[in-house]
Amino acid sequence: MFIHSFVINKKIFILTLLITLFIIILSSCLLYFSFSHNEENDDSNSESSDSSQDNSDDYIKWVDFNVTCEAMKLTSELDIKSHNNSEDVVFNWIELLAYLACKNGGDFKNFSPSDLDKLVSELKSGKSMEELTSSMKYYSYYLEAYSAVLGGFIGNYSIEVSNNSVNSSASDTTYFENRYGLKAFLPIAKNYSFSHYDDFGNSRSYGFKRVHLGNDLMGSIGTPIIAVESGTVEHLGWNQYGGWRIGIRSLDGKRYYYYAHLRKNHPYVPNLEEGSMVSAGDVIGYLGMTGYSVKENVNNINVPHLHFGMQLIFDESQVDSPNEIWINLYEIVEFLKQNRSEVVLSNPETRDYSRKIKFQDSINFE
Ligand SMILES: [Zn+2]
Repeated sequence: MFIHSFVINKKIFILTLLITLFIIILSSCLLYFSFSHNEENDDSNSESSDSSQDNSDDYIKWVDFNVTCEAMKLTSELDIKSHNNSEDVVFNWIELLAYLACKNGGDFKNFSPSDLDKLVSELKSGKSMEELTSSMKYYSYYLEAYSAVLGGFIGNYSIEVSNNSVNSSASDTTYFENRYGLKAFLPIAKNYSFSHYDDFGNSRSYGFKRVHLGNDLMGSIGTPIIAVESGTVEHLGWNQYGGWRIGIRSLDGKRYYYYAHLRKNHPYVPNLEEGSMVSAGDVIGYLGMTGYSVKENVNNINVPHLHFGMQLIFDESQVDSPNEIWINLYEIVEFLKQNRSEVVLSNPETRDYSRKIKFQDSINFE
């Protein structure tokens, strides 16, 4: 009798153990699945990276980008002015921002313009950035992180200029002028209104519980959408979260721009496909309200808007993984309001728009 009940107890014990194990495995699978699918960013059809063979684990895993529009404006003006006036000390705005991040503990809520003034006068007095940052433990981290975010925003480019602006008697000819300055554009075309607020991290419920990994720009259906930066179209087509969407990788490979919920029936400009190159300021598509549907070309978004996202990629293994890094773009959108691309109706039959002023990006990569 005693032996019999012992056997039963042992059976119950093993059964309980198996059930517990099963529950643990199931819940960890569910947890992994929910983390691996981000809001509106379900680009699971993309080819996965092969750099996972690379064993080096020495890359940035997380970035909390909270640099304010004010700090970006002040530092970019110093950078651009010092380049264009060939000043003795030429500033690099990303270096200035990385230094300021160390000063304010990575939180630009604590940013004080007087810290920037002090830094500028130290640099002007002949001190080098290396000297000034030698004891700053996180300087190289911020420099690399902010370079990934802002690396393509300021630099050399050529822009079409009319001779008429120089000499009113000249015929209507144009030429290209080389410039150095801000060459990233707002994603909403010039003369089209939009509104937005800081909605990064808000909760979303379509499909599964998750957070909002971008900035929604509310506007009218059909508003031309502009490529913020030059790059290669990596994804184009339907996904159930973003609807008609475009994913563009910057030419240095560090940034993946995500434009979603484009217009039903006519989401993109003609001839745009995966692999296409686009220039900063090009029209790429039109604002709409598609998405939240497994079925293609369905308007399931309540308010017409552009979902604008930026993913940072320090290592290809971060693409389509639970470790994707999406950053808050609210302040960047505010900063880019100063550079908007003007558009013209280039094809009245198809109602397609294109950029008004021609532009050539000059990109230098090591
Ligand atoms: Zn969104």
